[in-house]
Amino acid sequence: MSGNPIERRLRGWLDAWPVYRQLTGPDRLGRGAAAQSPRSAALRPHTDTPGPPARSVCPYCAVGCAQLVYADAGRAVQIEGDPDSPVSRGRLCPKGSASLQLVTGPQREQEVRYRAPYATEWADLPLDTAMDMIADRVLDARRRGWQDTDDQGNVLRRTTGLAGLGGATTDNEENYLFKKLWTALGAVQIENQARI
Ligand code: SF4
Repeated sequence: MSGNPIERRLRGWLDAWPVYRQLTGPDRLGRGAAAQSPRSAALRPHTDTPGPPARSVCPYCAVGCAQLVYADAGRAVQIEGDPDSPVSRGRLCPKGSASLQLVTGPQREQEVRYRAPYATEWADLPLDTAMDMIADRVLDARRRGWQDTDDQGNVLRRTTGLAGLGGATTDNEENYLFKKLWTALGAVQIENQARI
């Protein structure tokens, strides 16, 4: 900026005055740059992230609306509807629009929590330990409920020790894998919340 220090200070003071910018600049109606504060001029949209958004699906219900997940420094900063989706065409309901909270909310559990039988407190559990415990329980329940044949000797090869109940948030692909897993394990009671 040219001029002596007093002129520069005066110009800076005038430039900070929206009416002055409106009268002297191109924004004569004062609906754009003339009315913009330095703070709002420095604001950036949440979608102004270093890389392109990741494509995802809303986890809440079986509609399966598509989402764009914007991340900065490895952390999700904005989740919006994906306009390319034939299902939702860029729309999200209020629940889906708030799914950023599900990802980043302070109440989200980051560790496996376990309360042992008769214990009164919850404790953290390593994920590998938790997975081993689940596998042990599944195999044990399958074995104890196993039926090779019925009373007439007809082949059954099934277990009544396991039952599967899918939720309405599971999509087609997940339901396919869900049914395949339970059937492979020998379960016959396989249901979905959406059918009940
Ligand atoms: S945005 Fe709403 S309607 Fe769409 S999948 Fe999520 S919860 Fe369901």
